[in-house]
Amino acid sequence: MPMDQAEKNEFLKVLEDHHITHEIGWKNFSENIDDKPAIVAKIETIQQLQVVMRTLYAFNEKKAESERNTGRTAAGGDNKKYSKSFSFTACAEGEVILHLTGKAFKEIKPLAENIVLTGASVEVGVLARILYELYNLVLQAASLIPYVTVAGLAANAGHGSGRDQPSFAGLIAAMTLCLPNGDIVRIDANDENFETIRAAHLGLFGVVINMELQCIPAKKLKCEMDVRSLAELIEEVQQGLFINDPYVSVMYVPTYQPDELTNKSIKNVIIYRSTPVAKEENDVNMNAVLSHFGQDAEVEMGESLHITDLLRKHPNLIPDYMKYIVSQFAVGVKDAHVLGPWPDVTHYRTAFPRDIDDTDYLFEASADAKEIVAAITRVAESLTEFAKHKQYPITDAIYLRFFKGTNGGLSTSAHAEGRYICGFDMVSSNGMHGYKEFKNEMSHYFLNELNAKPHPGKFIPPEFNYRKAYGKAYDEFIKTLQDWHTKHHIELGKSPLLNAFHEQMLNNNVLMREEMDVPRQSVEVKKIAEGFKSQINMENPFAEILLKDLEEICRQPEAYARSSQTLFGGSTTDNMNNQSVEEKQRHCVIV
Ligand SMILES: Cc1cc2nc3c(=O)[nH]c(=O)nc-3n(C[C@H](O)[C@H](O)[C@H](O)COP(=O)(O)OP(=O)(O)OC[C@H]3O[C@@H](n4cnc5c(N)ncnc54)[C@H](O)[C@@H]3O)c2cc1C
Repeated sequence: MPMDQAEKNEFLKVLEDHHITHEIGWKNFSENIDDKPAIVAKIETIQQLQVVMRTLYAFNEKKAESERNTGRTAAGGDNKKYSKSFSFTACAEGEVILHLTGKAFKEIKPLAENIVLTGASVEVGVLARILYELYNLVLQAASLIPYVTVAGLAANAGHGSGRDQPSFAGLIAAMTLCLPNGDIVRIDANDENFETIRAAHLGLFGVVINMELQCIPAKKLKCEMDVRSLAELIEEVQQGLFINDPYVSVMYVPTYQPDELTNKSIKNVIIYRSTPVAKEENDVNMNAVLSHFGQDAEVEMGESLHITDLLRKHPNLIPDYMKYIVSQFAVGVKDAHVLGPWPDVTHYRTAFPRDIDDTDYLFEASADAKEIVAAITRVAESLTEFAKHKQYPITDAIYLRFFKGTNGGLSTSAHAEGRYICGFDMVSSNGMHGYKEFKNEMSHYFLNELNAKPHPGKFIPPEFNYRKAYGKAYDEFIKTLQDWHTKHHIELGKSPLLNAFHEQMLNNNVLMREEMDVPRQSVEVKKIAEGFKSQINMENPFAEILLKDLEEICRQPEAYARSSQTLFGGSTTDNMNNQSVEEKQRHCVIV
């Protein structure tokens, strides 16, 4: 619910009184979100942040939860080309957008034992460079993109690649947050819910001021870049590609040839295999600065020639464009290797076009990587089918990452013992003919066949069911979020951090329970129970038991309304799987 004019005036007055500059209107990097009325405030100090959060929360305390005002942090606000919010989803949206631009949010300070205090707005690439050059340290896990901020990347459980590596959030040893009521809180592993909170904080527990990150002593990286066909890639994956080297990532450029899965002469895959080496080793083939200008020129040329517009208008050009231009530039024709500073090799891609649409599914993989082979094959077959109908949905590339992952909360890389995580990232340009249909087909495949979780900063399929995908971890997360707010005397439903994107994630369950008072809830409970009574199939042997349960609920609905349990105990996929056949039948009495 937007602020009314009086609130808006009051809010702008608070900004003015505290010397907080602001402007109106906000766009993310890819410009798929264009929020014209948003008030965008540049926050220079922690005190300013506290004032803004307190003001928004005070507004919300006076109104119903459904009418609350929202305020979120978004990366950006510095006068630099890539100082932007890199999420495609509406996760950073709010009536008020905060850019944490002050020194307090840009600090980099080594603490004890390779732990470095890092301000929330420090970009991952800037951090990597300073760690390497000033403190002789590196980040063992980081995104390929250097421009995302540490708080923003961790919020969405962001990841890089590395067989033995956690997600980026797995490096967090402690976090300091500003709560919606303005209080400042630091949490670390001594907090029993730390793992649940850090794995994907989602910006829901407070505005992150800084993080203490675990680093390792600096090394260089030696990287082999192998040019392959898709068929060769599949063979190498089957032979242990992802397990044999510590850091492996893959880029596959679809060329839409009918024999793409078997033709070994189409070299449209590049495999990056990196190994840490001593910092004293001499650089080989390394000129990161030139490489950046080369990539930048390529992106600028594409944008000024409006290549993606051309492809949208003339999709029949896409196969040749992918085969003769993208493959040639991005994959090359022969194997190569480089050896150089860790930050340069990790963040080898430094220029990005704005006109991109991205879907990243993360799924568990076994050491033999059979799930990855299945996914590559399925996606390539699907693209071939689309090509038969003259549709070529992917105009950039498909990126594969392989890492160990991080357990806890709504982490997209939660994994069982001995398993790994594959990030399967499909990147195209906006509005390509057939891309929407391809995306739908892929979401069906990845969610249902591989139990994948979508990257919350990229694309969440409309049918995605968080509770089903995350099982018990979802319930734990909700409970942790509720307990956190109760402990800090904040009403979750009135938190300005809860925007529409996250409200959908929480599925309204939490809010409804808190919002309704007990008498109103009892009426609802009774109504639902009576509704169910009339639906019971009395031929089922468990019908009588269920009928008795429902009658009991109708007799004393207040007791159930007060209970912290859901009416029939939420059945997550996990606990359904553990049920006996009899218990499952009992769940099917209604219908
Ligand atoms: C070209 C491109 C390449 C990408 N490459 C990768 C990749 O290699 N790996 C990967 O995992 N992802 C990648 N992404 C996705 C991107 O990393 C995530 O969406 C990430 O969350 C963006 O972080 P950000 O710093 O831009 O923050 P934003 O996108 O602005 O924010 C992300 C979320 O964090 C919240 N937030 C931000 N700052 C704070 C704070 N201080 N306190 C509390 N909450 C906060 C925001 O409200 C929002 O909910 C890529 C995206 C693009 C466009």
